[in-house]
Amino acid sequence: MDAIGKAPVFPQWPQYDDEERTALIRALEQGQWWRMGGTEVESFEREFAAFHGAPYALAVTNGTHALELALQCLGVGPGSEVIVPAFTFISSSQAAQRLGAVAVPVDVDAGTYNIDVAAAAAAVTPRTRVIMPVHMAGLVADMDALAKLAADNGVALLQDAAHAQGARWQGKRIGEFGTIAAFSFQNGKLMTAGEGGALLLPDEELLESAFLRHSCGRPRTDRRYLHKVSGSNLRLGEFSAAVLRAQLRRLDAQNAVRDERWALLSGLLAGIPGVVPQSGDPRADRNTHYMAMFRVPGLGEQARNDLIDRLVAAGLPAFATFRAIYRTDAFWDGAQVAETVEQIAERCPNTEAISTDGIWLHHRALLAESEALHATAEIIAGAVTAT
Ligand SMILES: *Cc1c(COP(=O)(O)O)cnc(C)c1O
Repeated sequence: MDAIGKAPVFPQWPQYDDEERTALIRALEQGQWWRMGGTEVESFEREFAAFHGAPYALAVTNGTHALELALQCLGVGPGSEVIVPAFTFISSSQAAQRLGAVAVPVDVDAGTYNIDVAAAAAAVTPRTRVIMPVHMAGLVADMDALAKLAADNGVALLQDAAHAQGARWQGKRIGEFGTIAAFSFQNGKLMTAGEGGALLLPDEELLESAFLRHSCGRPRTDRRYLHKVSGSNLRLGEFSAAVLRAQLRRLDAQNAVRDERWALLSGLLAGIPGVVPQSGDPRADRNTHYMAMFRVPGLGEQARNDLIDRLVAAGLPAFATFRAIYRTDAFWDGAQVAETVEQIAERCPNTEAISTDGIWLHHRALLAESEALHATAEIIAGAVTAT
């Protein structure tokens, strides 16, 4: 254990090699730098859909736009409600609010940090149009129970799969559930072009609706400015798609490494008194581990933040978990909800806890050699003991 006392070495993120270099030159030299007439975006969409077992994919500008577009295609607008986990990145709720809809936060499970299905069921009203599970850190939410809940209530399921490129549930890939899934390719995500996003779409009708809306309502072959529906410009460019094609080729092997390293790290973390790593779910049989997450239950927010500072000083890529969405000003800026923050907090005890005692490490830590993970666990053990 000669790593003790020294900062562990972690790989850089994002990663690239000659595949990205070649791809960028190829996109540059083809002479069309947007998707119309180019081949990179279309090829990426085919490859990304096939990789996830979905009939279709549509590349877009970023993950937030992907969620907005998906909600729009599912008929969400003023008067509708979208059920979202209270513990998530703000885009999940902001996308609904941007469309004039009400985002209804519900609690998550204390161990998996995924949406609590019973809490989601309790939040369904006649105005509910969509339930949006977030596959937290790449751990697929309970898709069986959620599919039943959605079907029983006649509402759509939209997967926020920003963390879950390549994840599986009972052998099924993200594109095999028959629902729209939204992805992000922002700089930190599991595959990236700096910015970018995509939808997986289960049928041609939704693909066409999404295509029109992501291209100012204009049909693919239109030459007469006959715009069909309201929309915006959410088109991804050719350079980004070229890079994403190269990133996709690397993803499966990286997911396998992260999964293996998390088995090691979570075992080590579970052995530290006071530390509880994110639980798995045997049904989520390929977990991408976008974040290596753990809790120090009962630690207050300030003590948690101080602990993170010590971890960062020791060389770990450590961060605070998401803040409960209803505890941000942004949420209330577009909220239109009747409840107060205290009332929402009252029915979201797990979110209250995880968002104040949770810590995550960047997934590049899980691409490191196992010595670095032993050193990581020792640093965390030392820092927690000193708390
Ligand atoms: C990153 C992220 C998004 C938004 O993606 P962007 O590409 O940054 O807009 C949405 N949902 C979750 C859960 C995310 O982590």
